[in-house]
Amino acid sequence: MNTKFIFITGGVVSSLGKGIIAASLGKLLQARGLKVTIQKFDPYINIDPGTLNPYEHGECYVTDDGAETDLDLGHYERFLGVPTSQANNVTTGRIYYTVINKEREGAYLGKTVQIVPHITDEIKRRMLLLGQSGEYDVIITEVGGTVGDMESQPFIEAMRQLQWELPEGDCMCIHLTLVPYLSAAKEIKTKPTQHSVQMLQHSGVMPDVIVCRTEHPLGPELRRKIALFCNVKPGHVIESQDAWSIYQVPLNMHKEHLDELVVRKLGIENFNAPDLARWTEFLDNLQKPSKTVNIAMVGKYVALQDAYKSILESFVHAGAACGCKVKVHSLLSDDITADNVTGKLSGMDGILVAPGFGERGLEGKIHAVHYARENNIPFLGICLGMQMCVVEYARNVLGWADASSTELNSKTTHPVIDLMEEQKKTTVKGGTMRLGAYTCKLKKDTLAYKIYGTETIRERHRHRYEFNGKYAADFERAGLVASGTNPDTGLVEVVELPGHPFFVGVQFHPEYKSTPEHPHPLFKFFVQAALK
Ligand code: GLN
Repeated sequence: MNTKFIFITGGVVSSLGKGIIAASLGKLLQARGLKVTIQKFDPYINIDPGTLNPYEHGECYVTDDGAETDLDLGHYERFLGVPTSQANNVTTGRIYYTVINKEREGAYLGKTVQIVPHITDEIKRRMLLLGQSGEYDVIITEVGGTVGDMESQPFIEAMRQLQWELPEGDCMCIHLTLVPYLSAAKEIKTKPTQHSVQMLQHSGVMPDVIVCRTEHPLGPELRRKIALFCNVKPGHVIESQDAWSIYQVPLNMHKEHLDELVVRKLGIENFNAPDLARWTEFLDNLQKPSKTVNIAMVGKYVALQDAYKSILESFVHAGAACGCKVKVHSLLSDDITADNVTGKLSGMDGILVAPGFGERGLEGKIHAVHYARENNIPFLGICLGMQMCVVEYARNVLGWADASSTELNSKTTHPVIDLMEEQKKTTVKGGTMRLGAYTCKLKKDTLAYKIYGTETIRERHRHRYEFNGKYAADFERAGLVASGTNPDTGLVEVVELPGHPFFVGVQFHPEYKSTPEHPHPLFKFFVQAALK
């Protein structure tokens, strides 16, 4: 069978959840036994979202191969349980960068370099790239932005060309739109959908399926109307009502026959019903928690849910695995002081100090660690959170009052967290952190070892600063154990405090690897500790 290509576009408004629809369809096709990957094409000019403020673009997701990517790749991995890579996320910036570099090399042989065909050719090349290995039966491409945006036009044009260039029946387009309900008129309105489909058709792309996001059921009349005006079969108008959990969406899409429709349209001879046993089991657990556990998440970007997407999802997975609902209380680290920390954190069953960058809010994070350590509250520090737990220990246990991270204070006499050696030479900001998966060796007889149940692990990183090895012996003597280190460089990746119910700091990001079907053990053990 040829590799099949499914394009997903969005219309009417942004934030409709294209990523979730793409991931849900991917899940269903995978559950039918097909090999699936999902990629995202983003219309902005940044080469990748690595340099974007989380308030601009939500979390920056990191893949095994060290790509800084859109957070939708996190959904793809959580739903499919298979790793993505740099090739799964392409931005307009990356496309232009390639084309302009080629032009400088003289690769266009004197031609005028234009959006069509040069930019669109590069887009098409990347759209097909993952298909070359023969590893996948189906490649789903989510086109970021909204149809009609100036920025996404070259992507739509590339799709239009591919519809004709790919073998007959190997390619289809799904368009996701909003069907709003006007409460004053007590009516569901289809006009915005009609207009957005018209816009797509104006660009030469015929959607094969229209998925309608709606708060109310559409009913057969409206489906017929949308089909009539949008030039698709009535059965190809799919309703996507707001779901109680994003993880319910694959089941809802299956009920609407989306996967069946897709295999039929693409001529995939696949008559299997999707095997969703594990997924359903997870959903069942998610729906009937017997307890609630309260976790404080101390961070700098807490006003935007998406800024800590993977951490929040990891708690959903861990909660289901532990039979409880994890209620995450987001606390702005800037607001936490020595005087108010008790008031803010009392009543919490666990405290997580989140990753982050820059000086702002660091002192608040240190106060939160201090509170967790002294009051025996389960504590998990991730990346910057781990670094702040090292600083706290240095200040309050080792007695080095001015101990700090050089990110916070470059003149400290005890730089217990310091810029990594190779980072000292780096001036360029984009893509230059320590990124991607590295091996870490865990010490036997430590909590970390017990949690992972194995000696060698691989976790993903995104940072410039590190635990300063110069002080490792001092910390060890004072009781803070380096329980995980990189076997090649000796960098300390995990610290923990024996005798405390759960006090663990990790330099890496476990949240990137947690999925509903495989909740991350660190989150699971943390939630279990909080339950006690
Ligand atoms: N700012 C810290 C560093 O660069 C931590 C990064 C993070 O939390 N991802 O090392």
